[in-house]
Amino acid sequence: YAAKQRKSGAVIYSPDIDKSSQKSLSLLSELRAALEQQAFRMYVQPKVGLNNGQVIAVEALVRWIHPERGFIFPDQFIPFAEQTGFIRQLTHWIMNEAARVCSLWNSQGLHLKISVNISTRDLMDQDLPIKFAHILQQHQVDASSFCLEITESAIMDDPVRAFHTLDRLHAMGLDLSIDDFGTGYSSLAYLKRLPVNELKIDKSFVLKMEKDIDDTKIVKSTIDLGHNMSLRVVAEGVENTEVMALLKELGCDQAQGYFISKPMPSTDLPAWLEKWQQNNPPS
Ligand code: C2E
Ligand code: MG
Ligand code: MG
Ligand code: MG
Repeated sequence: YAAKQRKSGAVIYSPDIDKSSQKSLSLLSELRAALEQQAFRMYVQPKVGLNNGQVIAVEALVRWIHPERGFIFPDQFIPFAEQTGFIRQLTHWIMNEAARVCSLWNSQGLHLKISVNISTRDLMDQDLPIKFAHILQQHQVDASSFCLEITESAIMDDPVRAFHTLDRLHAMGLDLSIDDFGTGYSSLAYLKRLPVNELKIDKSFVLKMEKDIDDTKIVKSTIDLGHNMSLRVVAEGVENTEVMALLKELGCDQAQGYFISKPMPSTDLPAWLEKWQQNNPPS
């Protein structure tokens, strides 16, 4: 696999990966082995309602516990998984894990929506809606308990096919969210065409918005745009109380970020939530 530049200019995978196809092959077999050896973990990060401080949802974020290299973040293997098509198996695993955890939480009286990130290659799969329906049925969970986060670049490749898959997923009752909003191409056209429920403002605009007035203006305009389109608006990358307060003032619906919590193993969520509720009783 030759090194590829994304249109944004970012290198898709690290140089040591593209040195030789030999290495690519071994990474692919390592990913396959990881799936078999259950080396992937579903971490979750809470999304909090800004009107009342209550946890409404979580985003599922995958991590790889490598036998030698230890903890590996998704940026290190998701682009490669997308290039090779391995992402389909990984998405299937994470959706199944999300459904399993959702079912478990429901049995404990915990009802949180779970967001799962979806890639281009997933949307090119005509059977994706059927596969997801099967997973939901197996775990006896409702489609409305899930949200699929889609990046604009994921739609770019083959928009017609992507739109068709997304229409079918939405018709099944799954929420759709446009992830990293503002960083891709033709975002407004997608907003018009897609049956979306949620818009996530990219963290690049949110991180320094208490310091940068331009970021604040972009965030404000995006919130207004989302609301005008009857969408809920979520800000990612909320790292401090100033940004949290500013977002609330601007009418943003939900916040996600290190200020609330870093992503954690899904097994840690119930205890974390109990503490959060003690410190943030419903008003
Ligand atoms: P994303 O979907 O936009 O997820 C948000 C990323 O921002 C996560 O990085 C999260 O840990 C990070 N983040 C959250 N709050 C803050 C904050 O306050 N400050 C900062 N600096 N960062 C924050 P992560 O977990 O490393 O994931 C990176 C990307 O990898 C995700 O971006 C998503 O595009 C992709 N990804 C992660 N898990 C999956 C997956 O299961 N499937 C697919 N297809 N992609 C995934
Ligand atoms: Mg996401
Ligand atoms: Mg995002
Ligand atoms: Mg992002």
